[in-house]
This record gives sequence, structure tokens and C-alpha cells, in this order.
Amino acid sequence: MGTSDAGTATGRKCPICGAPVEHRYRPFCSKHCAERDLARWLNGSYAVPVVELDESDLDELEDFVEGAGDASEDDDESSHGGR
Ligand SMILES: [Zn+2]
Repeated sequence: MGTSDAGTATGRKCPICGAPVEHRYRPFCSKHCAERDLARWLNGSYAVPVVELDESDLDELEDFVEGAGDASEDDDESSHGGR
């Protein structure tokens, strides 16, 4: 009889808030924390050399960020239901 098939005893903690990891959102405890981490490193890669942005550029950037967020959400859900 297996003793390690419980699925709940991962012993892992969310790196964002320290709550127990939810299998579906691992290595995070929730979608919220997963998005926080994603946003963190997206911000990191946006930290490009100093550029001057026009207002129109900021609009584009906002659209890009919103679009990226939607896309990842969509992808996440479709990968769950599609297969
Ligand atoms: Zn968390």
C-alpha cells in the first residue's frame, strides 16, 4: 500500500506568501500568487536601459501588458480543459 499517494502532503510552501502550495497552481498557493510572481519577473525584463517614452508608447505598453495577462490566463485554462 502506498503511503505517498495522498496528493496533499507536498510539504511545499508558496514562495510569495508562504501558504501551502495548491497542486493546481504550484509552485504557488493560488493563481493570485502565481500572477504576482509573473508580474515580478515581467517587470524585471521591462527594466531596460533608460528610454524616453511618449504617451502613445505608454498606451501601447499598457495594451501589451493587459494582452499578455489575458493570454496567459486563457492558455492556462485551455490547457486544463483541452486535454
Ligand atoms: Zn501564495
